[in-house]
Amino acid sequence: MTPAERIAELRHLIRHHEERYYVLSDPEIADAEFDELMRELEQLESEYPDLVSDDSPTRRVGGRVAAGFATVEHAEPMLSLDNAYSEEELRAFDDRVRRGLGMGLDDAVRYVAELKIDGVSIALTFENGTLVRGATRGDGVRGEDVTANIRTVRAVPLGLRGEGWSGRVEVRGEVFLPRKAFERINAERTERGEPLFANPRNAAAGTLRNLDPALVATRGLRAWVYQLVGAGTPQGARVTTHTETFELLQQWGLPVEPHWRPCVGLGELVAFCREWDEQRRSLEFDTDGVVIKVDRLADRRLLGTTSKCPRWAIAFKFPAEQKTTRLEKIEVNVGRTGAVTPFAVLEPVFIAGSTVSMATLHNADDIARKDIRDGDWVIVEKAGDVIPRVVGPIPSRRPADSRPWQMPTTCPRCGAALHRPEGEVVWRCENTSCPAKLQRGLEHFASRGAMNIEGLGESLIAQLIERGLVRDYADVYALTAETLAGLISTSARADGRTIERRFGEKNAVKVIAEIDRSRTNELWRLMYGLGIRHVGERAAQVLADALGSIDALAAASIEELQATREIGPVLAESVRSWFDEPRNQQLLARLRAAGVRMEVPPEERAPRRAEGPLTGKTYVLTGTLASMTREEATTAIERLGGKVAGSVSRKTAAVIVGSDAGSKADKARELGVPMLDEAAFRALIERT
Ligand SMILES: [Zn+2]
Repeated sequence: MTPAERIAELRHLIRHHEERYYVLSDPEIADAEFDELMRELEQLESEYPDLVSDDSPTRRVGGRVAAGFATVEHAEPMLSLDNAYSEEELRAFDDRVRRGLGMGLDDAVRYVAELKIDGVSIALTFENGTLVRGATRGDGVRGEDVTANIRTVRAVPLGLRGEGWSGRVEVRGEVFLPRKAFERINAERTERGEPLFANPRNAAAGTLRNLDPALVATRGLRAWVYQLVGAGTPQGARVTTHTETFELLQQWGLPVEPHWRPCVGLGELVAFCREWDEQRRSLEFDTDGVVIKVDRLADRRLLGTTSKCPRWAIAFKFPAEQKTTRLEKIEVNVGRTGAVTPFAVLEPVFIAGSTVSMATLHNADDIARKDIRDGDWVIVEKAGDVIPRVVGPIPSRRPADSRPWQMPTTCPRCGAALHRPEGEVVWRCENTSCPAKLQRGLEHFASRGAMNIEGLGESLIAQLIERGLVRDYADVYALTAETLAGLISTSARADGRTIERRFGEKNAVKVIAEIDRSRTNELWRLMYGLGIRHVGERAAQVLADALGSIDALAAASIEELQATREIGPVLAESVRSWFDEPRNQQLLARLRAAGVRMEVPPEERAPRRAEGPLTGKTYVLTGTLASMTREEATTAIERLGGKVAGSVSRKTAAVIVGSDAGSKADKARELGVPMLDEAAFRALIERT
């Protein structure tokens, strides 16, 4: 077997097992065996770089998206669906369809019922069988080009198999997070004191729009497709029904959710909806309803679409699950911004697949309007959101001595009087040195998504604040291992118990090393970590890319900020007022004095600048490499700790010479700097 044949075979095998695992959830081999196949392919591809192609499974994760996502126009608008919330509404839909098709009372329409996935809609474009673009739905007409992130979703093939897909093919579907992956992400966030994602849909949406594909790859996104654009048209594939479309998509190796079923007439539709309302918790992912479509494509054309929705489809929504339980007590929580929000402590109740012991209560006005009280029996609901909410009390079951609930007038943590700015519903503790705010703020600052200081978690922060060792974020950088050693660290476990242990010297040294390392973080991590209102992970990345330094950000006017792609007036205003606050300016000055990096060094565009085997070495790239772009080569060097410079000097470790190399190669020869051809360069980055 030639290397080319083995490479082709390995790619085929890997795709097969990816499909077994990520589409069918029915693996045939152990993870270790799969990894072995992947390693062999990587090895072969590094030996034969000219055999590397873009649709190889080793190439799922590419370089970082530099400055936000490009906007793409959909070839055909991505419509939304009408909803049906009851069986009566389903009946009305069926009546409309039969009338539209001129059918009699006794005629039954042939439908296809599919599970509705609670995820993010996407459009995938293949050209001559190769995935060339993945885009979000956006406003239905224009979406965002998220190809680099879609490529990391292993349910999505990088190339189609079978036949009949020549030219340009667009399919649509949904990217989502299975429940397990969602729980894992939130468990990690809890451990690190980061804010939780409300539900898998939000987590999937946030992940898909992250600018770092390497991070996206770790999140475990999955995908299903359910539409072939242009199916049944003269230009499109030769199918006449939705059933045939599904079969075709499957033949091409695209992931199709397997529980779809043809249903003849309303009776079978209702049966399908009832069946899945019962069974849906046994699935690996959340489904919030059933999508019903007319099967025959000719019938669909006859029915047509309104300006917003097709007349031949409807989404049946499962009713939200409700339970009654006793509300033991209404408590309040103080957040990072000082917002004091009430929540309900409940007698634990099993609802929609999990035990619930807390629920949100929105705000004090809402509680007053619904007259929810301590000790009430209440109705609790878990709808699309995983975080449950209190729908309302059951006054008939109220104890005789019950009294209306009062919002506290002082902060439960620091005792300062609470204020409510005019026109707002949220009460706030405005004491800038409120330990609760500092606590939440620091938890956020140190969190994985922000400064990523491992080991600086909730309980350690609480002790540091309590002992007066930390009064603002900058104080973190003055901590020493001696100070930390001896403090007690507790951590909550999933089973509710807490483990307590003394902070050992080794551990203390580790945390200090982590703090030290965070000084050279990428700029967006600092921008996000500062906790400026409305500035999330993504806005921070966009701002860091656009402005390049804290000074530039601090100097930017609202107009300049708004001129940045994706930055709207609310965000711009919020950034501006944060930097105008003298206390924040002092904080930045102190962080700068502590050696925290405040800008993106010009030569450094890689997502993660690691310490590595190439640390201290500078490379120069010249000419064109066949197997990678210059940006990818730069990223590869920087990942290993090396630097890439624009010109050759005596200090240059080596010049990497591609085809059509220019004067830099001559200069290298002149100075006696080593030169690496592409194969040698690949060997260097694969080996080290
Ligand atoms: Zn307070």
